[in-house]
Amino acid sequence: MSAPLPRIPRSPEDDYSPGAVSVRHALCERVAGRALPHLAGRPIPPAEARGKVENLVGFAQVPLGIAGPLALDTHCGRREVYVPMATTEGAMVASYSRGMKLLSAAGTARARVVGEGLSQHPMLVYADAEAALRARAAVPGLRAELERLCAAHTRHGKLIAVEPELLGRRLILRLVFTTGDAIGINMAARAAELCSELVACATGAERRYVHGEDVEKRANARALHEGRGRSVVCDVRVPRALLMEHLRVTPEDLAAIHHSYQLGFARLGTHNGLVQAANGLAAVYLACGQDVAYVTESATGFLDLSVSAPAGAADLYASVHLPSLLVGTVGGGSGQGTAAECLELLGVRGAGGANLFAELLAATVLAGDLSLLASFCTHEFVAAHEHLGRNRPPEPA
Ligand code: NAP
Repeated sequence: MSAPLPRIPRSPEDDYSPGAVSVRHALCERVAGRALPHLAGRPIPPAEARGKVENLVGFAQVPLGIAGPLALDTHCGRREVYVPMATTEGAMVASYSRGMKLLSAAGTARARVVGEGLSQHPMLVYADAEAALRARAAVPGLRAELERLCAAHTRHGKLIAVEPELLGRRLILRLVFTTGDAIGINMAARAAELCSELVACATGAERRYVHGEDVEKRANARALHEGRGRSVVCDVRVPRALLMEHLRVTPEDLAAIHHSYQLGFARLGTHNGLVQAANGLAAVYLACGQDVAYVTESATGFLDLSVSAPAGAADLYASVHLPSLLVGTVGGGSGQGTAAECLELLGVRGAGGANLFAELLAATVLAGDLSLLASFCTHEFVAAHEHLGRNRPPEPA
C-alpha cells in the first residue's frame, strides 16, 4: 500500500509567492509520477486546438488549485488523490478541501458508478397520431438494423436501448449508448442522425429532428430520473466527534439545515437537491478539459443527510446521487495541456479512467455540500468569503 498523501503545503508568509506555488507543483509532479509543464505555464501549440475551437486567438487562463487529499473506496479499490480545481471564486477550493479531509478521516467514503448510458432523443413527425402509432409498433423490428448501423461507425459507442415514445403525432426515439471512456456525444449524435434517418424512411415520417426532445445541456426531468452519461452514488458514515472536529457541527445541525433547504428548494420549484455541485463540477471540468456546459445536467441530483439513532450520540450518514454525470477521459478536450496533466494527477487519464473519474467527482460533490452546509450552520460562510474571496479593484490614486 502506498504512503498516505501529505496535507497540502501552505506558506504562512505568502501562499501565492512563486516559491509556495512551486512547492505544491512539485508535490503534484511527484503524485502524477511525471513532469507537469503546462500546469507550470508552458503554452499548448496552437495546432493542438484543432477540433476544439475556431478562430483561435489564444488560451484562457484560470487559476487552478488542488483540494484534498481525498481518500475513498472506488470500483478500482482504495484511492487517495488531490483534486485539481480551476476557479475564480475565492474560498471555494478551501471549502472543498475541508470536506475532503473530513471524508478521508471518516475512512468510510465509497463511490460507485451505478449506471451508464448516453441518451439521444430524435423526434419524428407524422401526418397524424395513427401514423405515429404505426411507426412506434414498427421500431422494435428495426432494432438489429439500427445496431449494425451504429457498430459500423464507432468502435466504442454501443446502442443498448431503443425506446420509442409517443407525443401526439410525434415519435420520440430514445436511443441509449454506452460510450467507453468518452462523453461520447459526437459518436452518439452521429448514430442518432443515422438511426433516425433509417426509422423515418422506414415509417414514412414527414419531418425529422435529430435533437428533437433536446435534453442536451439543460437541467431536465429525464436527467434526474433516467440519468444520462454516468450515474454515480457516493456515501459515507461520519462519526459525531470527527464531524465536530472538522466542521464544528453536530449531525443534528446538518440534518436540520438540510431539512430547511429541502423546504426552500420545494418552494423554489427546483428538483435539484444538491447544494453546490455546480461549483465543484465546473471547477474540475475546467481543470480536466471537460465540456463545462454539461454542468447544467451533471450538477442535478440528490443529497441525503440523516442522523443515525440514538439522538445526541449518533453519527451522520451522508450521500449524493448524481444521475447524469457527463464526463470523459478520452476525446473532447481531455487529451492536451493542463487537462491531460490534471487527469494524470487524478490517475484517470485515458482508456479505463472514466468511471473512476466519475466516482472521484461524486465524492468531491459530497465533500463540498457537507462543508458548505456546515459553514452556513456556524455562520462562517460570509466571513470565509470576506477573508479569502474579496477582489476589490485598487482605489484610484
Ligand atoms: P470525441 O473526441 O468526438 O471522440 C472520441 C473518440 O475517441 C472516438 O472517435 C473513439 O473512437 C475514440 N476512442 C478511443 N479510445 C476510446 C475509449 N476508450 N473510449 C471511448 N472512445 C475512444 O469525443 P466525444 O466524447 O464523442 O465528444 C466530446 C466532444 O463533443 C466534446 O468536445 C464536446 O464539446 C463535443 N460536443 C459535441 C456535440 C454534438 O452534438 N456532436 C454536442 C456537444 C458537445 P470510435 O469512434 O471508433 O469509437
